[in-house]
Amino acid sequence: MLTDQIDKKALKLLKSYSGVSQLYARSKNPLRPYQQRWIDEFGITSDEEFAYLKEHGLAFDLVDMKHDEAVQKCFEYVKQCKKSQITDLFLSSFATERPDLRSDFAAYAIMQTMPEHRFANSNVPNFCHICSGSDVCIDMDMTDWNAERFKYGSIGPLKVPFIIQFHLAQHLRCAHQTPTSEDFRIFNAILDVLRSAEATAKPKDLHKDLKKISGFKATNDQWKRLLEALGVAGILETEQHKGYLTHYTNPGLAPSKTSSSNWAYPVDFWTGADGVNRKALEFWFGAYPEVLLE
Ligand SMILES: [Zn+2]
Repeated sequence: MLTDQIDKKALKLLKSYSGVSQLYARSKNPLRPYQQRWIDEFGITSDEEFAYLKEHGLAFDLVDMKHDEAVQKCFEYVKQCKKSQITDLFLSSFATERPDLRSDFAAYAIMQTMPEHRFANSNVPNFCHICSGSDVCIDMDMTDWNAERFKYGSIGPLKVPFIIQFHLAQHLRCAHQTPTSEDFRIFNAILDVLRSAEATAKPKDLHKDLKKISGFKATNDQWKRLLEALGVAGILETEQHKGYLTHYTNPGLAPSKTSSSNWAYPVDFWTGADGVNRKALEFWFGAYPEVLLE
């Protein structure tokens, strides 16, 4: 089923889906007070609601997946993806205000350098020293990841093959969209804010100016994920801390700028002085004469 026509009721249900609530609700043990508080706050998706979501292609049964199978799927799916379709959807997400359309861009960008590999033991049990994935992902909750696609518009902090393959699979289900002049205007305005940022500006300092862009509303979380995606794609990187277009960095072992930082690598290290990487921008968007490369 192509996910271009999204049922409104299903979308609302998906956005209120909490994987943690569902996990607690499945527990065979009596709930601890903090677990009950979580459920009270975020609610539970009933079996009936879950069936409705599944009917609309937005929910998925829990599955177990092995690391090597996830990596294999990543490579199988990425071969079927086209860069032009990835970027068409990315750009089309602006005027339509559809975060899900741009949410698979970062997963595809990671695949530019992620090595094809088998689970590689490390000193930490059940932790692949190449990609940080576990040997096997038990009760993989792809509905939760799908809720993130629609809510935030990009991959979360845990960029392991299980999640990457899910994003690529969802991208392959998306109908084609052609970006409009309004999409290009908004994207160019975003690039303009990035290029004109003060040398000391950090990613979070950009929110104020980004929010002034007309015709496009995004929450702080959506802006954050968008800037992180541009970092992953190498468009916002630093001399020392490169994006995944040219350098693969184990996401679970990637350095943080400060101990309290909650920004993803490498945009965490970016400041206005680093500017917009023209080469990476050209790689991703050079085929569109409408995108201003400098
Ligand atoms: Zn691995």
